[in-house]
Amino acid sequence: MTQTPRVGLIGWRGMVGSVLMDRMTDSGDFDLIEPVFFSTSNAGGKAPRGDAPLADAYDLDTLKSCDAILTCQGGDYTKKVFADLRAQGWDGHWIDAASTLRMEKDALIVLDPVNRPQIDSALAAGNRNWIGGNCTVSCMMMGVGALFKAGLVEWMTTQTYQAASGGGAQHMRELLTQYGTLNAEVRDLLDDPKSAILEIDRKVLARQRAMLDSDESAQFGAVLGGSLIPWIDQDLGNGVSREEWKGMAETNKILGLGEDAIGVPGGEAIPIDGFCVRIGAMRCHSQALTFKLTRDVPLDEIEGMIASDNDWVKLVPNEKQATMEALTPVAVTGTLTIPVGRVRKLAMGPEYLGAFTVGDQLLWGAAEPLRRILRILIEG
Ligand code: NAP
Repeated sequence: MTQTPRVGLIGWRGMVGSVLMDRMTDSGDFDLIEPVFFSTSNAGGKAPRGDAPLADAYDLDTLKSCDAILTCQGGDYTKKVFADLRAQGWDGHWIDAASTLRMEKDALIVLDPVNRPQIDSALAAGNRNWIGGNCTVSCMMMGVGALFKAGLVEWMTTQTYQAASGGGAQHMRELLTQYGTLNAEVRDLLDDPKSAILEIDRKVLARQRAMLDSDESAQFGAVLGGSLIPWIDQDLGNGVSREEWKGMAETNKILGLGEDAIGVPGGEAIPIDGFCVRIGAMRCHSQALTFKLTRDVPLDEIEGMIASDNDWVKLVPNEKQATMEALTPVAVTGTLTIPVGRVRKLAMGPEYLGAFTVGDQLLWGAAEPLRRILRILIEG
């Protein structure tokens, strides 16, 4: 790229975009680029930095003037502009948080602490499309990628506990509004220590049910406050949610395994499956992992491999106090640390391993790999 590349930023005020802006500011990335801020809803309005007004995110000529475009706007936006831009001959770098292009042959899923060799090969081969991975997959790979790299995983199941912010800014607002509504419904009873708990429970449930099919649950389509939703993303029609499908498809693509991978080295895809569940956490996706190992490896060796894999993973001792302190969304939110804890052999046998990990899905699961690939491209 040119010395001070012109970088178009789209989606900067959304959940992922806001976190990205903070990280780029903290990391000094804006000193290295000429940013051009776009909007899909407020062209001409005030940009978050500099004096230039917001450009129209659908104006292909202004988009084409950029050396790189980094979008956190979402898949619908990618579908609307990406193909037209390429069809008009734009050959800049496209960096995207959305899943739209992830499984395309000419797109690389970026998570450089895990797949820097693939990034370097793709760069050398002239790749121009760099896509952030699914948030749950990226956080999982940052935590236990060492086991995959060592060829120790025969298969894995995941049970996820995913935060409201995974759906975006509007979903977080909806969750908090639901919590507030439910609290208001029983505030008088809560203030009275002698009130009957079953009465509180009945009133909360009645209010939750009244939220169904109303604007109060429009974002999630089900009540999340005081409940959970065991389905995330589209229904693929075969009993599997799209979020669950991504677990196997994207993990294998990142590892360069399986038929959908870029630069396939001929490896067999590793079976990965499980259930993805939305819970009422604000930020961070947590997941319980079960591995069938390819061989029995002593627990201390496994712990050592996990702990030394990258600068951000942190092994949490499998003890109650340490777990309560370090292995929760409240502890992890806003940090780049990926704690992995509850690591133990399971009752099924010495080749069965359990672990629990938490990651801020807006950082390693979204903004950070995008910020880092931009930096890699700038630094050549
Ligand atoms: P989001 O918060 O809904 O923001 C997307 C866009 O919505 C914004 O850029 C903004 O566009 C518009 N918007 C409308 N009302 C808004 C409001 N009240 N506050 C802020 N923005 C508002 O979406 P997101 O969660 O950042 O996700 C963006 C993309 O990243 C999606 O493709 C998603 O799948 C992917 N992703 C998300 C996560 C996650 O944890 N959320 C993780 C990994 C990947 P204008 O300014 O142009 O109006």
